[in-house]
Amino acid sequence: MTNRTHTPENATPSWKNWSGLQQSNPSHYATPHDQSALSQVIRQSDKCRVVGAGHSFTPLVCTDHTLISLDGLSGLVRHDQNLVQSTIYAGTRLKNLGPMLLGINQGLANQGDIDEQSLAGAVATGTHGTGQNLTCLSGLVEGFQLVTANGELLECDRAQNTEIFTAGRVALGSFGVLSQITMQNVPSYRLKEQISLVPLDDILTHMDQWKTAHRHIECFVFAHGSKALLKTLDPTTDDIQVLPESWPSEDTLLTACCEITRALPALSPQIQRMLGVFIKPTTRVDWSSKIFPAVRETRFNEMEYQIPAAQGLACLAEVVATLKKHKAPVFFPIEYRYVKGDDIWLSPFYQQDSASISIHQYHKQDCWEIFKLIEPIFWKYQGRPHWGKLHTLSAKQLKALYPCWDAFMAIREMLDPTQKWLNPHLKTLFLG
Ligand SMILES: Cc1cc2nc3c(=O)[nH]c(=O)nc-3n(C[C@H](O)[C@H](O)[C@H](O)COP(=O)(O)OP(=O)(O)OC[C@H]3O[C@@H](n4cnc5c(N)ncnc54)[C@H](O)[C@@H]3O)c2cc1C
Repeated sequence: MTNRTHTPENATPSWKNWSGLQQSNPSHYATPHDQSALSQVIRQSDKCRVVGAGHSFTPLVCTDHTLISLDGLSGLVRHDQNLVQSTIYAGTRLKNLGPMLLGINQGLANQGDIDEQSLAGAVATGTHGTGQNLTCLSGLVEGFQLVTANGELLECDRAQNTEIFTAGRVALGSFGVLSQITMQNVPSYRLKEQISLVPLDDILTHMDQWKTAHRHIECFVFAHGSKALLKTLDPTTDDIQVLPESWPSEDTLLTACCEITRALPALSPQIQRMLGVFIKPTTRVDWSSKIFPAVRETRFNEMEYQIPAAQGLACLAEVVATLKKHKAPVFFPIEYRYVKGDDIWLSPFYQQDSASISIHQYHKQDCWEIFKLIEPIFWKYQGRPHWGKLHTLSAKQLKALYPCWDAFMAIREMLDPTQKWLNPHLKTLFLG
C-alpha cells in the first residue's frame, strides 16, 4: 500500500510520501488490476501521475488529479532460464520480488539499501546499490511495456521502439506507465556481509584499492566523529549465517541519537566518538535479496548527487570538512557508494562511472539548513542529482548536465503532447 492518511468514509484520501515531506490531494485514486483497466483509467484522465511505494523524497508523484497505483499489477509474468531474464509486473515491490526470483533460481544483480520500492518506481528514478562494476537497476532492464497517454500499449526493447527504450528506462513517469519490465538477472547467489568501524582517514587513503577488491562496498561517515562504518558484500558459497537479534537495534539507537542531538546538537561529537561501544565488527551470510536491504525506520529526508568516480573521495572529504566546520546540526552519517556508468539518457550515471554521496537529515529537523551548505560542493564536482532525492536544480542547469536532454524532451513531447503526465515538479524540472 502507498501511504494514504485515514479520511472519513467516501472522502478522497490525501497522499504522503515516506518521509512525510511531500503531500497532495488527488481528486481520484485508481488501482487497476489488469492492463485494460489501466489503459481505461489513463484514457479517461486529463492529467495523472503514477505512484510506486511513495519512497521518493521529491514531489514526483504529487497531483491534484488522478493518482494511479500499480499495487494491483504485481508478480512474475514469465521467465527465461537460459537468458536468466524475468518479466515482472511493474508494481511488484522489491521485497516480494526477492523470494519470487529465488524460486526460479534468479536474483537481481544489485539492490539498494531498502526493498520497499516498486520495481517501476526504482527503475524510473535510476535507483542503485553499490559496486564499481554494477549499474543502477535501470541499467539491468532489457525491455518494458509502456502504456502511453492515449492508453496504447507499446513494447520497447533493443529491437522495437529502441529510442523509447533507451530513454524510457529513467523517465520519472513522464513517458507513460510502465506495466511490465524485463530484467537481466543473474543466477541466485549468496553474499557475505562484513561490517566494521574504521577511521575516516583510512577510507580516504584506501578506498580506491578496496573498491576493486569487493563486489560491493559502501561506507557511512559520521562527520562529527571522524569514523565510518564500512560495509562490504562478496559472493560466497558459505552456509547461511544469521546474526542474533541485538537490542537496542541499530535503528532504535539511531532514533535515540537523533532525538538527543536534535535537542542538544553540541553532544554530536561526543556521541559519535563513542560509536565503537555499539558498533562491533559483524559477519553474516544469506541470499542476496536478504542481505541487500536494511531496516530504515528512522525517518529522514535526503539529498544525493552522483560525482565522477575519480573525484568521489575528494568531494566526500570536502563535505565532511564543511559539516564539521559549520558544526552542522546533523547526526545521520553520510553514505558513500560506487555505481557503474550506463547509456540511459537521463540516468545520473549516463556515460559516467560515479561515486554516490548522500546526506540525510532526521525528519523532525529542517533538512535545507544542511542541504544548502552541501549542495554547492556537489555542483563544484559536476554532480548529477538523484531524481528521487531533494535538490534545487532547474531545467537549465539540468540540461547542461545531460548531453541527450533535448532528444529525451523530443520523445517526451511526442508521447505526451497534452502534458498529461507533467505535474508542477516535472514542469519545473523539464520546462523551467
Ligand atoms: C528509506 C529509503 C531508502 C532509499 N534507498 C535508496 C537506495 O539505496 N538507492 C537509491 O538509488 N535510492 C534509494 N531511495 C530512493 C528510492 O529508491 C527512489 O526514490 C525510488 O524511486 C522509490 O521507488 P517507489 O516505488 O517508492 O517510487 P515512487 O517514489 O512512488 O515514484 C518514483 C517515480 O517513479 C514513477 N513511477 C512509479 N511507478 C511507475 C510506473 N509503473 N511507470 C512509470 N513510472 C512510474 C513515479 O511517477 C515517480 O516519478 C531510498 C528511499 C528511501 C525512502
